[in-house]
Amino acid sequence: MRHLAACILLTLLLVGCAAPADPDKAQESIQVIAMDTAMLITTYGERSSAAAYAAEDVIRDLEKQLSRTKEDSVVSQLNAAGRRMLVEGDLIPLLSSSGWFYELTSGAFDITVAPVVSAWGFTTDSFQVPSQEELHELLKLVDGSEVSVTPAYDDGEGTKATVRLGPGQSIDLGAIAKGYAANKVLEVFREYGLPRAKAELGGNVLVLGDRPDETPWRVGIQDPKRPDDPNGFIGVLELTDSFAVTSGGYQRYFEENGKRYHHIIDPSTGYPADSGLTSVTVVADCEMENGTMCDALSTALFIMGEEKALDFWRSGGVPDSNFELVLVTEDGRVLITEGLADRFVRDESSGYSYETIS
Ligand code: AMP
Ligand code: MG
Repeated sequence: MRHLAACILLTLLLVGCAAPADPDKAQESIQVIAMDTAMLITTYGERSSAAAYAAEDVIRDLEKQLSRTKEDSVVSQLNAAGRRMLVEGDLIPLLSSSGWFYELTSGAFDITVAPVVSAWGFTTDSFQVPSQEELHELLKLVDGSEVSVTPAYDDGEGTKATVRLGPGQSIDLGAIAKGYAANKVLEVFREYGLPRAKAELGGNVLVLGDRPDETPWRVGIQDPKRPDDPNGFIGVLELTDSFAVTSGGYQRYFEENGKRYHHIIDPSTGYPADSGLTSVTVVADCEMENGTMCDALSTALFIMGEEKALDFWRSGGVPDSNFELVLVTEDGRVLITEGLADRFVRDESSGYSYETIS
């Protein structure tokens, strides 16, 4: 009897070894609270756990470097130093990208908007409406063209560069850091050879491959009018190997005297952008730099408004890169650029009207 049991066990073990491993049997899902956001990382494959925790490490490391509210971050040190500082690490490529998107969006995307964001209380959560005079003074500091970075060099201990800010300037990477983090998370997923994965870093979503049932990942687009309804979608994007990044006034705001003030600041006025758009989603393929592009653009196009945003899209606003858009307007329209039309499932019961843009 014992002999029989041993035989059965041995057979089971051998069968177990011979059968190909099902990569989807190994799955990990972790929540990471970082960068002021509840993030969710879901990974598949034999190395799913290691990959998810490696992605968390990457995000935490970036937060340490880039947070404006952590006193010892490189960004806080640079903001405190004011004019000139030798920096290393991820801040260097991020500053180069920020400069690039400042130029491309004619200043709608501008990391030197930092003091204005602070004046509204979005850095500390002690919200207030600044006076016109205060905004007038602070806007003198907002000019992305004054930020410069010397070419990076390697001194044997890492990549370094010297950053210069204009007098009194400070920077806020809140509109681009999570997109950059998504790029790095993609790098981790690839390094670990994952067949499929999803990372939701607040409004920044990255999907790798397709879902275990071999259908596309489904990324819901929140109805800006129903920000607190977890199922309040205006539609769903069906995506594989993509970044999808949404910026919306509904994501962070406060109310005073019955008026709503949100966190996306128009650098030309110092006020929350009032462009007629309530959300902008930018979608692009999973190429390495595209996370950053989608994040920077979602913020900038929100500020630019419908007409300028669509012109930007039509004119191929980012050289050598493709992206598609879903715009939601205050007056109840959803505009989907044609490259996404067959990947966007409308929710006809949402009360919005839908248009495909070519
Ligand atoms: P996002 O959610 O990516 O659209 O980024 C919004 C965040 O970016 C805000 O909370 C601010 O920290 C920062 N921000 C606000 N306005 C701008 C702007 N015009 N350019 C760059 N960053 C901005
Ligand atoms: Mg952004």
